[in-house]
Amino acid sequence: MRDKLQEIKTAALESLAEAADLEQLEKLRVKYLGKKGELTQVLRGMGKLSPEERPVIGQLANEVRDIIEQELQSKREELEKTAQQKKLEQERIDVTMPGRRFTRGTRHPLYQVLDEIKHIFRGLGFAVAEGPEIELDYYNFEALNIPKDHPARDMQDSFYITEEVLLRTHTSPVQVRTMEKKRPELPIRIIAPGKVYRRDDDATHSPMFHQVEGLLVDERVTFGDLKGTLLTFARQMFGQEHKIRLRPSYFPFTEPSAEVDISCVNCGGSGCRVCSHTGWLEILGSGMVHPKVLEMAGYDPEKVSGFAFGMGVERIAMLKYGIDDLRLLFDNDLRFLQQF
Ligand SMILES: [Zn+2]
Repeated sequence: MRDKLQEIKTAALESLAEAADLEQLEKLRVKYLGKKGELTQVLRGMGKLSPEERPVIGQLANEVRDIIEQELQSKREELEKTAQQKKLEQERIDVTMPGRRFTRGTRHPLYQVLDEIKHIFRGLGFAVAEGPEIELDYYNFEALNIPKDHPARDMQDSFYITEEVLLRTHTSPVQVRTMEKKRPELPIRIIAPGKVYRRDDDATHSPMFHQVEGLLVDERVTFGDLKGTLLTFARQMFGQEHKIRLRPSYFPFTEPSAEVDISCVNCGGSGCRVCSHTGWLEILGSGMVHPKVLEMAGYDPEKVSGFAFGMGVERIAMLKYGIDDLRLLFDNDLRFLQQF
């Protein structure tokens, strides 16, 4: 047994010295020290020895194991060092290689237009107000003079969450929320930009789109103030040469109401395909705040008056940049978006 141990020791040290890589080294470790390794086998056979021999052989076996383990450890360190060295030699950095280019993003055209709209109205003394996108039926419809059975509800096919809660179909509820919060303070002069939702989806309608609502309430506000404000806006947005035209219209929450057209951005008013040869393009809806809406919000319509307007941001962006399909704005195609 003593000889066997010596034999194992000699063989192990010899093959360890010759091991060329870590993989070979691991194989040798298993061969000698593993559960079924040669040294383990010897130790298993110790039961057959006499009680006098057992501690002597045991001690010798431990010594052999310690020597092999030590040798394994130093050989492993040596091989790891060599491997590291080799890797470093192979990985040369080529300083002449061109660097990786970072592409810088741009603001989405819709938000560029929205920023411009905000900027123009801030210049006219309007503050920016916000309201929730998940809205109560009361604010979205009823407080805007659109009771439950009103036919105008059919024009705004809505996403209902419950019977009383829906995704807002326009930014107009912010009018009511602002008046409720501010009364009896005057003047109220806000724009309310944000996302709105309707069940529409085609080349000119998206189920989610952006609106900017405007509201001004004060004493002695006239229709002339409305027209002047909107003309100023249209000219700053599209160019000083533009004219606007107001056409009678109907909204339940304004009276009188008007659709606002701008002289065609393409032909300047002489008539072309873009404006269907009329010379005009519709850009927003507007009107004097309905006395009932003022009353419901807690103001006395005998003493105060106001005007309101609402525009689609996508519509303004399409006209400003000559985009003919609304869906391009939402497709996330960088070739399209990088043009702005
Ligand atoms: Zn035209």
